[in-house]
Amino acid sequence: FFISFEGIDGAGKSSHIAPLAEALRAQGHSVTVTREPGGTPLAEKLRAMLLHDEMDALTEALLVFAARRDHLRCVIEPALARGEVVLCDRFTDATFAYQGAGRGFNPEILTMLEQWVQAQPTLPEGHIRQPDITLWFDLPPQVAAARLADARQPDRFEALNQDFFVRVAQGYASRAAQAPNRFVRLDAAQTPEAVWQQLTTALAGRGWL
Ligand code: C5P
Repeated sequence: FFISFEGIDGAGKSSHIAPLAEALRAQGHSVTVTREPGGTPLAEKLRAMLLHDEMDALTEALLVFAARRDHLRCVIEPALARGEVVLCDRFTDATFAYQGAGRGFNPEILTMLEQWVQAQPTLPEGHIRQPDITLWFDLPPQVAAARLADARQPDRFEALNQDFFVRVAQGYASRAAQAPNRFVRLDAAQTPEAVWQQLTTALAGRGWL
């Protein structure tokens, strides 16, 4: 199984990954935990560029998908082929939310890149690699901004203005509306314990915990 974690910065997704890996291992699953952009030595170099260097939206989209290609080839596909559960902190929905909705990059080109980069010979004709489940930590951008103001130094994206995060949040909502069976919406405004409860209930409902 392939599970992605999505949400705007400050939504708290990353803190739930290790506990979920633990819970799945306790059930006897082998689990690979990884992240995007990144997850391989090459993709981590691209991540550092994406986070710190100024570039236009097309360069950003191409680097994100280049990183994803390497990550799929070297980490995700081999782990799935071994029968492992893959937990990935962000995947292509983030590209539609950040580069598409956030930066205003043409979503049709993102869709083309998605088809091209996520093609996988072991999948049936017409299918591309996508997460089986996307845990979407949905949080109002104002709440996220307040959390981040207390928490940490902003990176290049977090330093962008509030309007940017409003668009990113809308980007996630529209991706979720397009794939309602894949997206599991979690109310990330609740306490971490309550969010964890929502998460485990949702996965148990699908027979995965
Ligand atoms: O999730 P994480 O905090 O590791 O993401 C690192 C940064 O990269 C975030 O600030 C996020 O906004 C940005 N990012 C992006 N486009 C992506 C994925 C992440 O701008 N496709």
